[in-house]
Amino acid sequence: MANVYIVGAGPGHPELLTLRAHAVLKRADVCLYDRLISSETLALLPPDCEKIDVGKAPGVAHRMRQEDIQALMLKYARQNKVVLRLKGGDPYVFGRGAEEAKACFDAGVSFEVVPGLTSALTAASFAGIPMTHRQAGAEFAVITAHRREDQADHHPLKWPVLAQLDTLVILMGVSMLSEICRELIAHGKAPDTPAALVSQGTLIKQKTVVATLSTLVERCEKSGIQAPAIVVVGDVVRYTKTLCWFERLPLFGKTVWVTRASQQSSELSERLRECGAQVLETPVIEIKPTQESLEPLFESLRHVDWLLFTSANGAEIFLNQLFGSGRDARSLAGVKIGVIGKSTADCLQKYGLSPDVVPREQFQAEGLLAALPEDLTGRQVILARAKKARSLLPEKLSARGALVSMVDLYETLPAENLALRDLWKTAPPDFVTFTSASTVEHFSALLRKQGLDSQSIQGISIGPITSEAAEKHQIKIVAQASEATMDALVKVLLQFVKGQG
Ligand code: SAH
Repeated sequence: MANVYIVGAGPGHPELLTLRAHAVLKRADVCLYDRLISSETLALLPPDCEKIDVGKAPGVAHRMRQEDIQALMLKYARQNKVVLRLKGGDPYVFGRGAEEAKACFDAGVSFEVVPGLTSALTAASFAGIPMTHRQAGAEFAVITAHRREDQADHHPLKWPVLAQLDTLVILMGVSMLSEICRELIAHGKAPDTPAALVSQGTLIKQKTVVATLSTLVERCEKSGIQAPAIVVVGDVVRYTKTLCWFERLPLFGKTVWVTRASQQSSELSERLRECGAQVLETPVIEIKPTQESLEPLFESLRHVDWLLFTSANGAEIFLNQLFGSGRDARSLAGVKIGVIGKSTADCLQKYGLSPDVVPREQFQAEGLLAALPEDLTGRQVILARAKKARSLLPEKLSARGALVSMVDLYETLPAENLALRDLWKTAPPDFVTFTSASTVEHFSALLRKQGLDSQSIQGISIGPITSEAAEKHQIKIVAQASEATMDALVKVLLQFVKGQG
């Protein structure tokens, strides 16, 4: 195991991290990160990881000198911490990664370098620009235009050679755009050669300006484009119109906060990302199992007639323990199973179980009651649920003659130290998704505690009970899912955005 990990974070989109980068991120004690690391990527770090911004803003006085960054990195390494040096794109592409790795080597500190997707290729790809194409380009070069004449390592750009190449990608070129275009034309590139500038590639603010060498400067000035950006010159730029799939996604440009507990948020986040949204997981609740052991319950399953699950969380905890204890599906042989909705049914499916009863509509206690038999006289019913759940189910089931035992499988606790304030500044939400009344309650409590105003929030709710809770806490719900599934939640958000559009 290394002490220092010099990791390429890719161009910013968190799903463009490599698996290796992701694994290392998850166990970092300290993270020294650059200016261009996105908030979504930083959100993946463990909550107790110390995060240090060592970024440098261009033009402005350097916030931290390279030597100081290296010294800090080595200092933490000597404290035996897992040090993550997180860099934009690939550490070895204009990233000074090699100098940092060498500093580790010289200090006798073990290190690993994790390659990343360089923005040179990725930002172009997300803008629909292929690096090569049989009809448009057989070679490409990646260069930086940012040269400091005073530096000892100054290499002048080889314009006569560069002007000959099919495809050119230029990093750090925004402030020198007119010089780049002028030099290329002066050295023989046709003025009408297609040229593009892609700023904030792969991020929600990605913007692509397509022009020619002679018009790019003017077009960029008009659209007020900002760094970081790459410039691509060559015939391959022509393909952007057809191949730019990213900017055409329905939630492109939108930031969505997902408030569910982190164990459950990945499915929703993934779907939203697929629609082009920037997703921030802000798990305002934590799910904590309450039972030490479910052994006594498992032992008594023989005598049980009905086992009812009121949430996917409960089903997951119960089945995980049941199968984890060495039992298999036969221990549920004589038991009928009822679930509150589709998500819970899906959870059962994962374990090869099909519920006997799923409400056809209304995925809440009322729906389950409607789907269960009217006469439950003398039936042993286990209600596997969350602590502090509503009392409707046990009351109504007892009224039907059932012998109800309640098992509180888990409780939802507020996540106390979630810094919403910081996220609010860097990635304010266009939408916040609420998948239960408790997410609304805890979210609203956190907002208040951190002095944030709920007025501007546009909430997307999973169903009527959640919407009611939102109303109570003065959170505006702009769209409500037609049924309590992640699919329906995403669908209603897409409809809402389309309606706005
Ligand atoms: N090591 C990095 C490059 C560091 S130099 C890499 O491999 O990507 C910083 C330059 O990278 C910026 O000036 C810009 O030209 C480019 N860049 C970084 N992130 C970018 C992004 N998301 N979109 C467009 N260009 C980006």
